[in-house]
Formats: sequence, structure tokens, C-alpha cells
Amino acid sequence: MRIFKLIYEVVFFKVFDMHHTESNLIEIKDKIKNKIKLLSLNQYDPKVIAVSKTFDEKDILPLLNFGHNDFGENKVQEASLKWPKLKEKYKNIKLHMLGKLQTNKVKFAVEIFDYIHSLDNLKLANKLAKEMHKKDKRVKIFIQINLGGEKQKSGIEPNDLEAFYKNCLSLKLDIVGTMCIPPDNQDPKLFFKDLVNLNNKIKLSELSMGMTNDYLDALEFRSTYLRIGTGIFGKRAN
Ligand SMILES: *Cc1c(COP(=O)(O)O)cnc(C)c1O
Repeated sequence: MRIFKLIYEVVFFKVFDMHHTESNLIEIKDKIKNKIKLLSLNQYDPKVIAVSKTFDEKDILPLLNFGHNDFGENKVQEASLKWPKLKEKYKNIKLHMLGKLQTNKVKFAVEIFDYIHSLDNLKLANKLAKEMHKKDKRVKIFIQINLGGEKQKSGIEPNDLEAFYKNCLSLKLDIVGTMCIPPDNQDPKLFFKDLVNLNNKIKLSELSMGMTNDYLDALEFRSTYLRIGTGIFGKRAN
């Protein structure tokens, strides 16, 4: 079987000169498929969000033409420069906001994003509810949780989640799941496990966890949205 894989790679990646973002994505999806098979995880098909922050069209277009639809950004301003034109042309794009969202950017965020992974305070929840009502647009939302108790990171404290979630429901926000960014230099699995438990406690189905360095670990916990940047686009300049 290895020889077939080799021939496949030579033919597709080299002869037709496949762009590196496309070959990286194919390779990552392959690894995901293999790990799911290895773990015998049934009826499990996680989404890969290609995190395109700092990269432009020439690296994004090969993925769109390959049929990839889910992309992530972490700044509203950068996203509003890059994506409206592409969304016009590629109707199936789902754009995910992953970074800290300031309330004064909510208007634009609701306009261009389909998912927001970083809801982390009540003022933002109120603003989102108001703006979505005004635009009659439903954006799907993840509540970001600060699992490591890190001062420099955003997120709702685990103990405050149930009360915060109830507030979101009364605002009629479309909360689909929870999101975390585990602390550096610690075993991410400990935090993935915590997030699963919190998600179950409030009976949500979607989990946004797993990045380039730990997406294969996140599969063990049935993460439903893997946020992968460097692994697809390469190293970022900043
Ligand atoms: C940049 C970013 C990612 C992607 O990180 P990589 O390590 O490059 O895969 C994922 N999630 C968030 C919130 C990010 O800001």
C-alpha cells in the first residue's frame, strides 16, 4: 500500500504541481482519517477550520478550488478586507472568528462571520444579540473557556459557565458549544477532557479544540472543530 501512496503523491503533488496549502490539507485530513480508524471512533467526522490569518488569496484560493469551505481568522479588520469578495464567489464558505472580539467590532463581525468561537463576556453577548436581531442574521457561537486560569487569556471561568450560558439563552443566542486554548507546555489532553465535561454539563454538542500541535490528541475527545493554521499554511511571519 505504501507504494501506491508514494505514486499518488508523486503524480498529484509533483507532476501537477499542487500548491502546498492543498497538499498540507490533504495530508492532515489523511492523518485524521487514520487516527479515527485506529481508535474505532464511529460516526465521527470532525470539521477542519483552515486558519488563514496573515495569509492572502494566493494561499487560500487553492483550498477553495479544492472544495474546502471552513476558514478561520482572528481579526475582524483583516477578515473584512479578505473575505467579502471571496464569499461572493464561493457561496459555501463558512467563516469562523477565533480571536478576541471587541464590542466596537461586533457590527462588522456579524456581517462577515458565520461562527464566533470567542464569546467571553456578557457585554459582548448583549451586543451580539442586539446586532443579530437588527440584521436578522444568526451566527453560531461558542463560549470560550479559560481552563488554565491564565490571567493573560480570555474566557469564562469554568465555575461561571452555567450562569453565563443561561444568560446567553435568555438573549436567544445560538450557542452551539464551547472552545478552549490550552496553556502552553502542559498536556493538552487534561484540558480537552475538562472541556468535554463542561460541554456535557450544559448539554452542548460542539467542541472547538485542537490546533496544529494537538489536533490528533483532540480527536480522542471527539472535538468537532479543529482549528489548524500553521499545519496548512506554514509558519506565520509574526
Ligand atoms: C491562530 C489560531 C489557531 C491556529 O493555530 P496553529 O497553531 O497555527 O494551528 C487556532 N486557534 C486560535 C484561537 C488561533 O488564534
